[in-house]
Amino acid sequence: MSNYDVITLSQELIKRQSITPNDEGCQQLLAQLLSDAGFQIEHKRFGEVDNLFAWHGQDCENCKNLLFAGHTDVVPTGDESAWKHPPFSATIDGDYLYGRGAADMKSAVAAFTLAMIAFVKSKPNHKGKIALMLTSDEEGVATDGIKKMMPYIAENHNFDYALVGEPSSSKQLGDVVRIGRRGSLHVEITIHGKQGHVAYPQNAQNPVFLAAPFIEELSHFKWDNGNQDFPPTSFQISSVKTSSNTANIIPADMIINGNFRYCPESTKQSLEQQLKQLLNKYSLEYSLSWNLSGLPFYCQSEHLRSVITQSISETCHIKPEFNTAGGTSDGRFIAQYGVSVVELGIINKTIHQINECALVKDIINLKEIYQRIITKVM
Ligand SMILES: [Zn+2]
Repeated sequence: MSNYDVITLSQELIKRQSITPNDEGCQQLLAQLLSDAGFQIEHKRFGEVDNLFAWHGQDCENCKNLLFAGHTDVVPTGDESAWKHPPFSATIDGDYLYGRGAADMKSAVAAFTLAMIAFVKSKPNHKGKIALMLTSDEEGVATDGIKKMMPYIAENHNFDYALVGEPSSSKQLGDVVRIGRRGSLHVEITIHGKQGHVAYPQNAQNPVFLAAPFIEELSHFKWDNGNQDFPPTSFQISSVKTSSNTANIIPADMIINGNFRYCPESTKQSLEQQLKQLLNKYSLEYSLSWNLSGLPFYCQSEHLRSVITQSISETCHIKPEFNTAGGTSDGRFIAQYGVSVVELGIINKTIHQINECALVKDIINLKEIYQRIITKVM
């Protein structure tokens, strides 16, 4: 078996030009290392997308199953000539490793793969199950990756905890750990009036005027109070139009598109109910069309949080902040199965940018953090 350290393995992965949804052999390489260490391997291809699941150990009473999740695909390079070093050269310059995927998130993939292998070598008869799931379409449409892998994996495996290696750190490795994300819910509200000639308003009902007090209340309505980890749910209107584009017509309908970014204190049902109450309060005639684009997730496990805090402070001598900022994430597809999910990875300052890079020292420390977490959890 080849002897990779976390830096050389990160470099090997960066050199493979795995622009989404391509994997370019990253998963083959990792699967080989994991299989040499005694892991069971499953390659699973959905559509154009390569996915990998590997695991070691088995379920037992009173022990924990831990899953690491991530992706081997990267976003395109942008103008290659603008890079200080070619984006797939994986050049080390001073304290930094440069390359597409250096921060998002090939170094984390290398770090957790080697941390898992080191753990299994030191404790071949460990309790519980330790596993890894990788996809190659996180940066793209993301339909044939984790979304399909999780239901497949859940048929035979249960996990207590999952660690997603997305770049969560802000200024210093380990300073920020994500423990949840808000949900995203779209709604199209159609307010019905009565069409007519603008010169004869007595014969028509303008839906825009009818809706005005309702919209005013929407602008400051409190959907919930949030909680200690999440800000209150927010609602924003993204577009407003009417069913008419003629100057002398009072339109029949007004169409409002809006989006909720909601915390786990609310649900699609509770928001739907509150919105209907509000529409009824102003005696509006309406129809609603909903689209739930992302469920929220929220890790409430005190045990996992304290293991992470200890592992980071032992490695980096800082205490992490747990937060729920940012957009939606793949974590939600794992959390649906009752798994406590957190995201912990490299500093995210240069992700998706020209000259994406990571501190060499951070990659080494990230592997150490992951290894400490595994040892404490299992
Ligand atoms: Zn990523």
